[in-house]
Amino acid sequence: MPRPLCATIHLDSMQHNLARARTCALDAKAWAVVKANAYGHGLERGMRGFAQADGLALIETENALSLRELGWTKPILLLEGIFDASDVPLLAEHNINSTVHSIEQIKMLEYTQLYRPIDVHLKMNTGMNRLGFRPDDYKAAYKRLRAIPGVRNITLMTHFANADELEHPRLSIAEQVQRFCAGSTGLEGERSLSNSAGVLHQAVLQAELHNDWVRPGIMLYGGTPGGGRTAHDFGLRPTMTLASEIIAIQDLVAGDTVGYGSRFEAPGPMQVGVVACGYADGYPRHAPHGTPVIVDGVRTTVVGRVSMDMMTVDLSPIRNARVGSKVTLWGDGLPIDEVASASGTIGYELMCALAPRVRVEEG
Ligand code: PLP
Repeated sequence: MPRPLCATIHLDSMQHNLARARTCALDAKAWAVVKANAYGHGLERGMRGFAQADGLALIETENALSLRELGWTKPILLLEGIFDASDVPLLAEHNINSTVHSIEQIKMLEYTQLYRPIDVHLKMNTGMNRLGFRPDDYKAAYKRLRAIPGVRNITLMTHFANADELEHPRLSIAEQVQRFCAGSTGLEGERSLSNSAGVLHQAVLQAELHNDWVRPGIMLYGGTPGGGRTAHDFGLRPTMTLASEIIAIQDLVAGDTVGYGSRFEAPGPMQVGVVACGYADGYPRHAPHGTPVIVDGVRTTVVGRVSMDMMTVDLSPIRNARVGSKVTLWGDGLPIDEVASASGTIGYELMCALAPRVRVEEG
């Protein structure tokens, strides 16, 4: 008998969310970001769910090659630009566009014999201080890259640090856009700035964010990028439902404690349900008492510590709970962002942390 824990991936919701991104950024082409195993949904499923995207963006060259083997013919972008000289012919042969963010990479391209042209994204560091050339150095980097005969299209790119908070006191979107424009004026090439938060705020910041390509990730998976608005507010649908069942019920009396660390103490007689899902499945171990779950269609909460394979939930609000009662951990009817926020993390992390041992179905 299989363990009752299952993640259901909703491909129709992935399509819906991509369509939402397109209506927000009408004039832009869309890279659907499928890094981290399509945010835990599976790379191949990401490819099918986002078949209407203009391109797919991810991290590893090997996964880019897998996409080609799976039949993806549209553009592919490597977001981190991790490649060495031996990868360059592969990138060229399979038409994989890579981010270029350092002088070492430009030198390497200068010394590599390019038999076929390659397309690149040249990244500007407008304040995130992870990857890219500072605005003052950007034009020089562009010119060196432009002088390499095998380099074909150069897309100008940056990444927002605080797109979820338009008026961030330390670094606003407007400031990053202004640095990007200053560093790239006069340079030829398409432009790409916005992640999900940028896409969703396009309506507010229209003029500055309108550009040739957008790069939505989390919104395509029905998660909010933050900023105090929920995925539902943005018209997004959940794409992953994690569900299990009650596998045992315990009748407690006042003073009984539950689980490792005996962290929860029953205030009076009550029942707790033991659910087949634990931190080895990707459920956050630090989810505190009060984190929402749904049992038989009714909201209740986690009690006690989440253990490796099991967790315990309060059955007080549930009438006729039984072994076999359905439990939704997140997804349909229970936004992953609510579970994440109760656990002090973000929906991104929960999706990506889904463990390989969890059965995955489509539906
Ligand atoms: N673009 C780049 C360069 C990224 O690193 C990411 C993800 O971190 C994205 C786009 C997508 O971001 P989000 O999932 O917030 O839409």
